[in-house]
Amino acid sequence: MFFRDCQPEDTHLRQFADHLHRDQFVLQVPLMRERLDLLLGIATELLADHLKLVIKTRRAIGDIRISFAHRRNEPYPGGFRIAFLREPHHGIVHHQTLIFLRQAKVLWTQDFSLAHRDTAVDLPEVFSEGDLVDQLLDLTEFARFFQRFGPGLHLAHGLAWLATYVEALRQMQAWAEALEEEGKFGEIEQLIHQIAFGEYLWQIYGGIPMSQGEILRPQDLGLSQEDQRLMMDDAVMRLTQEGNTEAARMRLVAAMRERNADITYGASGLDDELEMIREQFRRYAKEKVEPFAHEWHLKDELIPMEVIGELAEMGVFGLTIPEEHGGFGFSKTSMVVVSEELSRGYIGVGSLGTRSEIAAELILCGGTEEQKAKWLPGLASGEILPTAVFTEPNTGSDLGSLRTRAVRDGDDWVVTGNKTWITHAARTHVMTLLARTEPDTSDYRGLSMFLAEKTPGTDDAPFPSEGMTGGEIEVLGYRGMKEYELAFDGFRVKGENLLGGETGKGFKQLMQTFESARIQTAARAIGVAQSALDVSLQYAEDRKQFGKSLVEFPRVASKLAMMAVEIMVARQLTYFSAREKDADRRCDLEAGMAKLLGARVAWAAADNGLQIHGGNGFAMEYAISRILCDARILNIFEGAAEIQAQVIARRLLG
Ligand SMILES: Cc1cc2nc3c(=O)[nH]c(=O)nc-3n(C[C@H](O)[C@H](O)[C@H](O)COP(=O)(O)OP(=O)(O)OC[C@H]3O[C@@H](n4cnc5c(N)ncnc54)[C@H](O)[C@@H]3O)c2cc1C
Repeated sequence: MFFRDCQPEDTHLRQFADHLHRDQFVLQVPLMRERLDLLLGIATELLADHLKLVIKTRRAIGDIRISFAHRRNEPYPGGFRIAFLREPHHGIVHHQTLIFLRQAKVLWTQDFSLAHRDTAVDLPEVFSEGDLVDQLLDLTEFARFFQRFGPGLHLAHGLAWLATYVEALRQMQAWAEALEEEGKFGEIEQLIHQIAFGEYLWQIYGGIPMSQGEILRPQDLGLSQEDQRLMMDDAVMRLTQEGNTEAARMRLVAAMRERNADITYGASGLDDELEMIREQFRRYAKEKVEPFAHEWHLKDELIPMEVIGELAEMGVFGLTIPEEHGGFGFSKTSMVVVSEELSRGYIGVGSLGTRSEIAAELILCGGTEEQKAKWLPGLASGEILPTAVFTEPNTGSDLGSLRTRAVRDGDDWVVTGNKTWITHAARTHVMTLLARTEPDTSDYRGLSMFLAEKTPGTDDAPFPSEGMTGGEIEVLGYRGMKEYELAFDGFRVKGENLLGGETGKGFKQLMQTFESARIQTAARAIGVAQSALDVSLQYAEDRKQFGKSLVEFPRVASKLAMMAVEIMVARQLTYFSAREKDADRRCDLEAGMAKLLGARVAWAAADNGLQIHGGNGFAMEYAISRILCDARILNIFEGAAEIQAQVIARRLLG
């Protein structure tokens, strides 16, 4: 049979793989690290120049503004045009450039944050008689213009991805070197290491998928063939040619099957104490979470309070809260391990601690001593469950422009407005609520954070507090806590519950929590990816086609191998950002990278896992159908992928 004949079970390939992974790549990679840094340096410099050029040009020609030509300038057949305007009194042509994009929903000045809140052009005013110089550019000219100055978003985000890959490989290398020193760099670790380098180096060279349809290619960043060749020294060439071969991937999966009792595929690189924590939570998740998660999902049920009670007893909610405030004072790295293993059981359970982490960080960083004393012990013990109330129907990524108002009334505040997508809103005791306290502002400066007390709801009365109503939003995945839209009308918050006792600081206070929240979300992503690998490897063992287990087929094994490899890459990047946080160093960049990559890795693992399940994967009955839905959210909340990339790019480009 043709199909069977085609299976590369050939022993010479196996031998080749054996030979390959025993090579000391670890000795050659440092050379390549320099190459990578060099490449990143070139790309950053080029892009910084490019951005400077955009800004310079913008200054020269005036504000570049964008609007949708849907009013009196409707009839531009090409859908857009650039019109150079003459300033009435100075007679200067090119004073103002307007770009009209009729249907394309592209606000690229916004992407650059050059004219963020300045994109709405008052057309009648701008087009007062005599101002318009008839200098319309046709599509080709526009395309040329846009090509030169427009696609900065793609490039800047591409740079963010490139930097993420470079950092990920650096951390993989650091992991390998540390294991090597401890004598723990065994076969699985070596294979994961070489496949990771082989694959990611090729992607850097050939194109990094920022999403399924958006590939960042080095030439997009302005790198020439010459620049790219700089990277390709012998070690890099060898890794790209021989690191990630089918034989290596097959061998990795064979080794994973042999070692299937291990909690992780490949040593995590963490110390014994953290691995003991992992073991404890893995055991709990296997026993108390995994067997029930799918039913909670299918029935769209809240995770039972019993589970929350058990997690509280195990210290999940107070893990990183300092001991003097009733917590355990453990490291962020331990929080990562716990989140990983609980999310591996079920993302809903792994996310129960997220809101407590955000609330505790807010209070620790921005709260008064009284607020710390009042809230932190209860948050740590799990007696106080918080919910994070930021997003509004018209305000998601651009949180600074939110509209919910809080107005002083005596000592108290009265809140009016609408919020949406609020996870675990009903059953919780306190809301970290972001609202506008300076009515004359429209940006982040007028926002304040409240610790707004509420009465926990029940199934029959989810929102019993006065001045507050809510309704459930039905969702694809990430169930177990439920999402709600909320309406506030005369909802009262005590004056003492204004975070830090100061108005106008809310956005800044929230930003201080982003590092921890993103590290934790990256950990959740690893857990979800790992659960996809767990169920898919098992399915591939059990299911037989053409007389053998699916796992024997190279296309199936390759998917499993890449899951294990990318999980380790995301893991090392996440541990790195957690360690930076533990060392009290600024790590918004690293945390953003970990979240960015982790979310993509989780989605790829779930998608490939479902593919391995074939038709059964599409059946609600199978866990992988849930894991796919759960994985999808990771690219959206806690900063959508595009926003993460933008944050990273902004930091890189200064
Ligand atoms: C299941 C779930 C749970 C959630 N839980 C909570 C919660 O508990 N509390 C809470 O406050 N919020 C919560 N959220 C809200 C979440 O944080 C937002 O959905 C997220 O911030 C994105 O905002 P948005 O949905 O309004 O999308 P938009 O901001 O409308 O973005 C839509 C798309 O456009 C892209 N985009 C936007 N701006 C730019 C730009 N400048 N450049 C390039 N691309 C851009 C985005 O990346 C995204 O792909 C939750 C959301 C979901 C789905």
